Amino acid sequence: MTANRLLIVDDEPAIGAFIGRVAANAGYEILAVSTADKFLEHVRNWRPTHIMMDLQMPVVDGLALLSHLAAQKCKASIILISGVDRSVVEAARRIAIERGLDVVSALTKPIRVADLTGILNELKREEPWLTVAAIAAAIDHDEFHLVYQPKVILESGEIQGVEALIRWQHSQRGPISPLEFIPFAESSAAIDQLTHWVNRAACEQVRAWNEAGLTLDVALNISARTLHEPRLAEALESQCRKAELAPARITLELTETAAMQDAIQMMDVLTRLRVKGFKLAIDDFGTGYSSLVQLHRLPFNEIKIDRTFVADCTTSAESRSIVRVVIDLAHALGMQAVAEGVESAEALDLLRTLGCDEAQGYFISRPVAASEVPLAIERHSQSDWVRQLRSRSAPSTNDVASRG
Ligand code: C2E
Ligand code: CA
Ligand code: CA
Repeated sequence: MTANRLLIVDDEPAIGAFIGRVAANAGYEILAVSTADKFLEHVRNWRPTHIMMDLQMPVVDGLALLSHLAAQKCKASIILISGVDRSVVEAARRIAIERGLDVVSALTKPIRVADLTGILNELKREEPWLTVAAIAAAIDHDEFHLVYQPKVILESGEIQGVEALIRWQHSQRGPISPLEFIPFAESSAAIDQLTHWVNRAACEQVRAWNEAGLTLDVALNISARTLHEPRLAEALESQCRKAELAPARITLELTETAAMQDAIQMMDVLTRLRVKGFKLAIDDFGTGYSSLVQLHRLPFNEIKIDRTFVADCTTSAESRSIVRVVIDLAHALGMQAVAEGVESAEALDLLRTLGCDEAQGYFISRPVAASEVPLAIERHSQSDWVRQLRSRSAPSTNDVASRG
């Protein structure tokens, strides 16, 4: 379906055909009808973006059709045509606008090609560029790639894993944020294709690091829709087998909102993934609505504290309390607490003091290309924060007890 679908209704088929030719030349998809019944049927089923309507029709006149359209809350741009006096068309136009219709223009017969072409060109809507087909083509043309953000273990300062995040380098539009295309993809089947692509690319990357002597776990973002795809668990398992990875090296991150939908069905899917050995994390925790019962029942390994709380945990007592409570909750339920969006040494120190298990954020490393991951890890291990951590935890006579 294109963004410009013009439905023409005129009881004189010759006029409908004439308008249709002009509109087709202007790049519209067209349908022309000569009866009210056919017209209303196409309004419902074909959902035109534009309508051209003759006001003088036998049986059901244009004004009656306009009230039908108003009752259906039709959103199309409407052009009225009439053979009568200009003032009659204007009156009809005012009534329709008052009823909430988008009457954009009025033409009197005889219609001149130049006038019609001018109006149609002006009213043309831009074709949406973000479509399922565009995503499929971008996969085929290798326009997606993954970046990886290291996750640090707060106890030791070591980096044991990374989160894979998708990037789209569009051939014409340049870099596009996942915040822009993931929500669209999630509303269509495109997300399944994307997720499978991400899963395969990430597993192959982990294997490549393995072969280069770098052992890293990987976290993957999975949307609710894909989670319910029956092939997901098997597909992931086969990716792991091909990449010679134990499933326990992979954590699947689901947003809190996704994880809490339809708890019974969710339980089934999540348990299957856990049985196969994958780990599960609740992402963006604190932004959705989980009940404690659901949290307790669902087989998660990890809670990721949303970065809105982490960002200001050193300056806002409220955020600090939330972070503390979530860490304690995770531990009480036998899960790990992971903070995301750590942007300062102070925040990282505070999280460590509060007993948070892992952290990620710009302070540790921004998400980087796969080839830069070893360097990011090296840089982190040489950082002041890690040096201080090492010197603090080096055995000394003042060491009373280790953290427990
Ligand atoms: P998310 O899973 O919560 O990912 C974390 C986001 O926070 C990433 O944005 C990351 O770049 C950003 N971030 C990391 N550290 C910091 C920090 O210290 N400060 C701030 N302000 N931001 C930080 P990104 O890469 O733009 O991804 C945005 C969202 O897009 C992700 O949020 C995730 O929901 C979605 N997404 C990304 N990749 C995928 C994917 O492969 N599949 C699916 N389903 N969703 C994805
Ligand atoms: Ca995530
Ligand atoms: Ca998150």
